[in-house]
Amino acid sequence: MNIQSNFENLRKEIPENVRIVAVSKTKTFDEIMQVYELGHRIFGENKVQELVEKFERLPKDIEWHFIGHLQTNKVKYIAPFVSLIHGVESLKLLKEINKRASQNDRTIDCLLQVHIAKEDTKFGFAKEEIFDLINSNEIDNLKNIRITGLMGMATYTFDDVVVFNEFSELKTIFDELKSDYFNNNNFFNELSMGMSGDYNIALKAGTTIVRIGSSIFGDRNYH
Ligand SMILES: *Cc1c(COP(=O)(O)O)cnc(C)c1O
Repeated sequence: MNIQSNFENLRKEIPENVRIVAVSKTKTFDEIMQVYELGHRIFGENKVQELVEKFERLPKDIEWHFIGHLQTNKVKYIAPFVSLIHGVESLKLLKEINKRASQNDRTIDCLLQVHIAKEDTKFGFAKEEIFDLINSNEIDNLKNIRITGLMGMATYTFDDVVVFNEFSELKTIFDELKSDYFNNNNFFNELSMGMSGDYNIALKAGTTIVRIGSSIFGDRNYH
């Protein structure tokens, strides 16, 4: 397993205008630095404590993305430095991110997670809830967050058609929101979909960010 060549091959395969979040959860400082040394600066983690430790130990020009299920009571630990929170799934969480961003004199970019998979276990807003939330104007009062797009996870299946349809559905919701509610403004721009197993399908469906772990770093060992 050669992390650097994995990353270089992946970077060649993915169009330049699509951002890669190198998902480094469970991986060591050393492994992360191998990708960093190639010039890559965007890394993603899904556990707050692990993210904070890595932020503290690793170079400060890394752009850290939080990609997991974020608990309200832990927002304060990442608010000082996190660049993008993928997968915000409640108004309560948005309000907490706004409060902590304000305390840190920052604006934090967030993606709303939409539930597109058939499985019950995946988090996220239902399509109607997203439109309700944005119509309610409640988010207009949250001055220290910016909704920069949507995130979604497809059903875990080998059926590419199912995955493509789910990603395409998310792209449609995104386009609709962008034109109807965000007036095609230039910050509502991001669609985060696609991981190691399905990024090729996500690219076909129009993703702008892929979150890739095992295709770069190899399999994860959970202890
Ligand atoms: C772990 C994780 C990924 C990366 O998964 P791979 O299959 O290793 O590429 C992407 N997104 C989220 C939300 C994750 O938790």
